[in-house]
Amino acid sequence: MKAEIIAVGTEILTGQIVNTNAQFLSEKLASLGIDVYFQTAVGDNENRLLSILEIAKKRSDLVILCGGLGPTEDDLTKQVLAKFLNRRLVFDQVAMEKLDRFFASRLDYVRTPNNERQAQIVEDSISLQNETGLAVGGVIEVSGVTYVVLPGPPSELKPMVNNELIPILATDQKLYSRVLRFFGIGESQLVTLLGDLIDAQIDPTIAPYAKTGEVTLRLSTKASSQKEADTKFAYLEKKILAVQTFEKQRLVDLFYAYGDDNSLAQTTFELLRRAGKTVTAAESLTAGLFQATLANFSGASNVFSGGFVTYSMEEKSRMLDIPLADLEKHGVVSAFTAKKMAEQARKLTASDYAVSLTGVAGPDSLEGYPAGTVYIGLATTENVQSFKVNIAGRSRTDVRKIAVLHAFNQLRKTLLKNENML
Ligand code: ATP
Ligand code: MG
Repeated sequence: MKAEIIAVGTEILTGQIVNTNAQFLSEKLASLGIDVYFQTAVGDNENRLLSILEIAKKRSDLVILCGGLGPTEDDLTKQVLAKFLNRRLVFDQVAMEKLDRFFASRLDYVRTPNNERQAQIVEDSISLQNETGLAVGGVIEVSGVTYVVLPGPPSELKPMVNNELIPILATDQKLYSRVLRFFGIGESQLVTLLGDLIDAQIDPTIAPYAKTGEVTLRLSTKASSQKEADTKFAYLEKKILAVQTFEKQRLVDLFYAYGDDNSLAQTTFELLRRAGKTVTAAESLTAGLFQATLANFSGASNVFSGGFVTYSMEEKSRMLDIPLADLEKHGVVSAFTAKKMAEQARKLTASDYAVSLTGVAGPDSLEGYPAGTVYIGLATTENVQSFKVNIAGRSRTDVRKIAVLHAFNQLRKTLLKNENML
């Protein structure tokens, strides 16, 4: 295992304090047979800390951060790590109770929200309790790298390392995780459905996380090998995917990928690439968002040559060559229009697939349809279909984002079916 130590604190760089924590940690790690390859010191600065984390994750299996867990503004280690790992900070119950007891007994101290930050850990972490202070530490594994956060004062760091961290590092077991990604279900429903499994605190543990339109479940376990962890994950995953939603869909049908970074768009893009197929789009309410998302991926030109932003009815007619009278007859919020848009976009660009998006971004209704009513068209060389989705109660920005996710999802499902990629 390759480890590195990052001491956070401007005082170290200015020579006001000596980085004795790095020395202590290196010695401890060596005694456990863990090789320390790098020691770095970085100031209390978000960007510089982010840049060193970016380097560390590529070259180390174990990244130990120390310092900057205190209550003041310059203490930003956990906040920056949370940002780096794309996670929230959550309160650790044990540390919070300790903070409560401390302030109950010390009436001369004023309790501020800043103090409470000390009881926070990066979501999904295992907490490391602080015997001699208030700041809680943590351990988290993400994509094969274990990150450890420790307080700066040696009087706090040393007992935490000896009593809390070493028992975790000393076993031959490592922390493993598997991330399951879902589209088409909200976090609250998923948590309700999996309530018993989550409450049971079984091994592996299950932690849900929601982003706009997508939900992920992180399964975590300690095991001696990837194989052992995989066996545990497979067993639990089977149970999870068999669960039925309130709408009588199975979770397996809403599951679309593994991993921390595989967004719905990324997954669909990879399928297109593997199949060697091209796609185009004609977009009304999303005004190019689908196409812009596609162009985020390097290699996009292999699957996408161009498309249409047809916001008004006139441009739908003119750019896509659809008789205006037909559009007027059916309305822009209609299955007819969605299908025609997709069909024409595909023909005009000679693409294998085309999606279209037309509907009501909101906040006002349109043609009598409430905000969030969206028709998605999907044309292939064989046929053209349309799907109606209702994205109720969301902001205009979210309606547009979620509509794009639906479009990617329909394309993904069609690709899996048509290209024999199941
Ligand atoms: P606090 O709650 O005291 O603010 P913290 O976790 O935020 O703790 P820092 O603010 O970075 O830690 O440092 C607090 C003190 O801990 C420093 O003034 C210094 O005395 C000591 N310290 C910090 N980092 C190191 C280090 N790498 N080596 C030795 N001592 C350190
Ligand atoms: Mg501090």
